[in-house]
Amino acid sequence: MSAVFVWIETFNGKAISSSWEALGAAKELAAAWSVPVTALVFGEHASALASEAAAYGADKVIVCEDATLAGFRLEPYAALVSKLVQEHAPKAVLAIGTARARELLAAAAADTNAGLLTEVSSLEAQPDGALKAVRPVYSGKVLSEAVGTAGAVQFVALRGRAFKAQQPDAAAQAEVVSVPPVLAEADIATKIERFEEEVGTVNLTDAAIIVSGGRAMANNPADAPAGVADAAVWKAQDGFQNTLQPLADTLGAAIGASRAAVDAGYIPYAHQVGQTGKTVAPDLYIACGISGAIQHQAGMRTSKVIVAINKDAEAPIFKLARYGLVGDLYKIVPALTAELKKRLGK
Ligand SMILES: Cc1cc2nc3c(=O)[nH]c(=O)nc-3n(C[C@H](O)[C@H](O)[C@H](O)COP(=O)(O)OP(=O)(O)OC[C@H]3O[C@@H](n4cnc5c(N)ncnc54)[C@H](O)[C@@H]3O)c2cc1C
Repeated sequence: MSAVFVWIETFNGKAISSSWEALGAAKELAAAWSVPVTALVFGEHASALASEAAAYGADKVIVCEDATLAGFRLEPYAALVSKLVQEHAPKAVLAIGTARARELLAAAAADTNAGLLTEVSSLEAQPDGALKAVRPVYSGKVLSEAVGTAGAVQFVALRGRAFKAQQPDAAAQAEVVSVPPVLAEADIATKIERFEEEVGTVNLTDAAIIVSGGRAMANNPADAPAGVADAAVWKAQDGFQNTLQPLADTLGAAIGASRAAVDAGYIPYAHQVGQTGKTVAPDLYIACGISGAIQHQAGMRTSKVIVAINKDAEAPIFKLARYGLVGDLYKIVPALTAELKKRLGK
């Protein structure tokens, strides 16, 4: 019987949490086609992760625990996925569309002469076994629909936060099969020497709530202390820290930013949302002093609820926003924070 495969991406021996969203999407497809879901778990502690995959809905887990798979390298991972696809002929191979997953799925799809769809935001199983996928194009202005060929393996990289993970069931069981790696260390050209943690990394893509600041952060009325070389930069950094951060802390949110704020040195690039930054889809996106340029919209327009705070009632961000507050963010944000603190008992 054919199956739906889903690659569970790991880092430092742990599954990345959005992998369970891919498993949730795989589960729905598999149910529509009445086939099982097979999770592919490779790397260190892969066997230990099998029970977690079962809890999130996998019917079967193919595990490959080998030193060659300890850190992600394209050659051994793609060789293994390609071999498993050739042996089992799954209907589809899904993964959450991280940079690694896109690289892996593209290589395995090329090796197995199959098609690949990326940035998929919704999926529908067709009765004939084909797959209908929706993907945003032109910076999310248009949704395109693609239908895979029935009978062929379809590789699909999913957008983060577009699909729901199942509630884990600790009692769920899955058949666990161990397989050997395809490539030996001597056959792998890439060597991992070390990982360097990026300074100021923020997990924006997984955040359920994002509070974002733009160029207006430099309009902070706070006085820059004497001796500060660039008062605008100081004010903006102070605004992020003392105006937006308290709101973010109250809501348990991550801090995002426009490119204008990043380019001006108000906040590190890791926070940038947009075409040349991160694509996010939180439940709530609060844009503070951001005009809503098309390049910014490209990274946040699929947020579920958008709130815009801007003193210009004509700012394009209001066309996207469910709730708009016209006024000075330095008055609105502290008032909003105080009210939310009261209501949330913080
Ligand atoms: C190739 C390319 C890629 C790009 N990629 C990105 C990207 O990834 N992300 C991105 O964001 N941009 C990107 N941009 C830049 C984009 O075009 C805009 O320049 C940028 O998004 C503007 O940032 P902003 O909204 O913070 O600034 P502005 O457009 O200057 O808007 C500032 C807003 O703040 C409001 N304001 C001012 N003071 C206050 C106050 N006290 N209270 C409330 N509101 C106030 C103003 O009314 C205004 O609407 C890209 C551009 C190009 C050409």
